[in-house]
Amino acid sequence: MTFDTLGLSPSLLRAVAEQGYQTPSPIQARAIPLILAGRDVMAAAQTGTGKTAAFTLPLLQRLAGGPRAQPNRCRALVLTPTRELAAQVQESVRDYGRHDGVRSAVVFGGVNINPQIAQLRRGVDVLVATPGRLLDLHGQGFVDFRDLEVLVLDEADRMLDMGFIHDIRRIVTLLPTRRQTLMFSATFSGPITQLAQGYLRQPVRVEVSLPNATAETVQQWVYPVDKKRKPELLSHLVAVHGWDQVLVFTRTKHGANKLSQQLEQNGIRSVAIHGNKSQNARTRALADFKQGRVQALVATDIAARGLDIEQLPQVVNFDLPNVAEDYVHRIGRTGRAGAAGQAYSLVSADEADYLYDIERLICKTLPREEIEGFEPQHAVPRGRSAKGGPAKGRPAASARGRQKPPSGPSAARDGAPAQARRRTRAGTGGRGAQARRKDNGRTPSRGGRGR
Ligand code: AMP
Repeated sequence: MTFDTLGLSPSLLRAVAEQGYQTPSPIQARAIPLILAGRDVMAAAQTGTGKTAAFTLPLLQRLAGGPRAQPNRCRALVLTPTRELAAQVQESVRDYGRHDGVRSAVVFGGVNINPQIAQLRRGVDVLVATPGRLLDLHGQGFVDFRDLEVLVLDEADRMLDMGFIHDIRRIVTLLPTRRQTLMFSATFSGPITQLAQGYLRQPVRVEVSLPNATAETVQQWVYPVDKKRKPELLSHLVAVHGWDQVLVFTRTKHGANKLSQQLEQNGIRSVAIHGNKSQNARTRALADFKQGRVQALVATDIAARGLDIEQLPQVVNFDLPNVAEDYVHRIGRTGRAGAAGQAYSLVSADEADYLYDIERLICKTLPREEIEGFEPQHAVPRGRSAKGGPAKGRPAASARGRQKPPSGPSAARDGAPAQARRRTRAGTGGRGAQARRKDNGRTPSRGGRGR
């Protein structure tokens, strides 16, 4: 299939060709004709599937045909959970819309509001925003939605996870009821379906992969290791594999800072990116990473959302996330748009329950390998530990409606990279791991919510 068959205008086809895209990704092939036909669409597609172009291209086509935006008004609104994602979506809008003269702007918190006000004053066809800053701007009278034709909720699942539901509700009450609404989410959970029922009109459901399936192009491994030896193992892996661009995930902001310092001490150029860093520091860190001045970008889940780094060859989970869905998001950072990627998880005994939740969610047992010299003294148990009930105040993923058990015994080791010397081991036994479910800094504080 080619883009020509989707019904896109010549100017958009030109912009697509300039991006070097030859064939539409599955989500693009399915969603673009539906959106062009004016349908509300609810799409399950994780980052890396080409979802941004899937909604941006038909959106631009619709807007290109109509009158330009009036001052302080917008014709389409894209809501995103994070500043980084907002900036990247607007970049795509600009790239794809360059031959149509569509005016776009991005607004998010943590930066000076005045340039955003000035842009809105001129009128904006496509406004990309994080919810908090958008409400501030609306409250001050700088944006009016009466001409709005299309609403896009991008990464809707993350917006709910990050506590944006009230902001979203407030925003939707400000919009015309006659509009086209598109919702993109990595997964279709109960709350997402409910949200769709409230805001979308007879939506067409589009799913490009099994719900919560991890990108098929990503090879995944678990490296059992004692907690205190993780920094050393990571440094070893960077050296042995010769990685010059690796995205590393930690659960906490403090953990990200500490690890980044440890990597630096081991001679690995590294920088941490998380919600406590200023927007400028985050932008600079990302640019340094993209341009190869930094080898390891250490990020928390929230900060990593929306990072679009092309062809990222590998990601490392230094800590496993305590919310299983985050694993899917994390590894979606590699293996993007069909490129091969590798995801490595350094797992200590106390994280056995997180691993169990992840394997249930993705319906797959991840292959375990021990790296020679880093064999754990505390084995990582298989299955849920006796003590590992749901976290206080937050049910475990398995208790949140996912019933499917992991498929089969240990998955095959096919395609494992050969550089690191290691051996596989059953890894059974060991004492039950105490699930220590730390707060991952996700409490919806103002600073961490993309304002
Ligand atoms: P997204 O899922 O929107 O974050 O897109 C992931 C990456 O895939 C981005 O770097 C896009 O530039 C790229 N991409 C989007 N559509 C295509 C396509 N049809 N062919 C190749 N790359 C694409």
